Amino acid sequence: MNKNDKILIIGAGLCGSLLALRLAQRGFKVDVYESRPDLRTVDISAGRSINLALSDRGLKALRLCGMEEKAREICLPMYGRLMHDREGNTFSSNYSGRENEYINSISRGDLNAILLDEAEKHENVTIHFNKKCKNVDIENKIAHFKDYKTKEEFSIEAAVIFGADGAGSSLRKSYISERKFLFSYSQNYLNHGYKELEIPADSSGKHQISKEHLHIWPRGDFMLIALPNMDGSFTVTLFLSYDEGEYNFENLISEEKITAFFEKEFPDALALIPNIKEEFVNNPTGPLGTIKCSPWSYQNKTLLIGDSSHAIVPFYGQGMNASFEDVFVLDEILNQDLKDWKSIFKTYQKTRKKDTDAIADLAIDNFHEMKDHVANPLFKEKRKIEMDLEKTFPKQYSSKYSLVTFNENIGYYEALKRGRAQDKALLNLIADETIHTHLDMTKQELEVILDKVIKETNEILEEDKIAGL
Ligand code: FAD
Repeated sequence: MNKNDKILIIGAGLCGSLLALRLAQRGFKVDVYESRPDLRTVDISAGRSINLALSDRGLKALRLCGMEEKAREICLPMYGRLMHDREGNTFSSNYSGRENEYINSISRGDLNAILLDEAEKHENVTIHFNKKCKNVDIENKIAHFKDYKTKEEFSIEAAVIFGADGAGSSLRKSYISERKFLFSYSQNYLNHGYKELEIPADSSGKHQISKEHLHIWPRGDFMLIALPNMDGSFTVTLFLSYDEGEYNFENLISEEKITAFFEKEFPDALALIPNIKEEFVNNPTGPLGTIKCSPWSYQNKTLLIGDSSHAIVPFYGQGMNASFEDVFVLDEILNQDLKDWKSIFKTYQKTRKKDTDAIADLAIDNFHEMKDHVANPLFKEKRKIEMDLEKTFPKQYSSKYSLVTFNENIGYYEALKRGRAQDKALLNLIADETIHTHLDMTKQELEVILDKVIKETNEILEEDKIAGL
């Protein structure tokens, strides 16, 4: 590995553009090839999530590249969830008992644009748009492209090729088709897909519902969520089964059915989405899936990074954060001055894989929690106690959600293990009739709960360790 190595990155999405920036800052010569047009000059938002929740792990990677402040300028802080029931009543549940912990709504396009701008400031970075990678000859490190505009086909040879080309990665497909090594791969779709709708700004350009919350309409088998945009609008996402249950994407085919469904299930949201019929019919329905694979690299030649190596369902709001954290972890490995790319790639996967597997599993857990449990009384009680514990003992207690979202110093795997053990301990305490938990506990009562939760959590973790989990 040396600084003159010509690096090729496939994909100038969120991960590819941050990776290009970081490698350029480290002095490498980087060429990025992106299949779509330059999103700074053409509106190409249709079909992808328009805004995303950015949290501490993503911010940590942006900070490394000097981009945290620029990103924060286009963020809207969301301090908690605001749940909406069928009658239009709302109740809020903060993300953390600590005041400085919140997540941020950010536009995918605007974030991608500031990363591209910053990467392009480096003369050792060139970004090529409208160039789709068809496949990669991984043995010879040659990527084959087609130019969307001229239809011309061409090939690029590089010292190292990074596949940052998302869940449908061309590099990952080449790993499978080239059969050069034993490549394990799984792709699991949920039976649910998603569709995006819009709550526009009011006539004075203001948000019509609280912009300080992530809004959720949990309905058991399906749910609606909404994240605020800087222009006063909200991007609303419906998560619904393709073909199961009373309502599904397959049977919501007529305008009457769509309106009847929203009137019954989300009347308060319906009142705010004036173009529901057009949007429901015209906006695409996207699939939701988890991709796990291994190994991510081939010799000293290629590496998958971001969604191409670990696409996850969006229910923990961590896909982009994890992809940004990939860049942070890779950068730490580059600091180790290992002798070649092969050692770098192997060390990177060894360090990272258990964490990306963990967030994939946590995201599936949260799918069930969000559409169902957040409105469940037991969940509400547990959440209230957790918030009180975090508020009263900010240094001693962090909920699973906080460990995943706000604790950038531990990996997702550790957050999963500790978080699940804590959840079990806390639910056991709530169910234990000899201990009276309630919603307005004093500091002394909370202290008793804290001691018991910590003790039981440690016991569960110890048992897991003995069982080899
Ligand atoms: P992508 O963003 O998919 O970028 C890949 C890039 O490669 C694209 O620009 C694409 O055009 C390009 N490309 C693809 N194929 C080729 C090719 N053959 N040749 C050249 N270029 C190619 N994450 C969060 O952290 N928080 C959230 O709140 C959140 N919400 C989400 C909501 C939804 C509905 C969805 C679907 C995802 C959400 N995510 C969220 C996940 C997040 O979108 C992804 O994890 C993130 O975009 C991954 O970044 P990436 O750069 O690896 O892949």
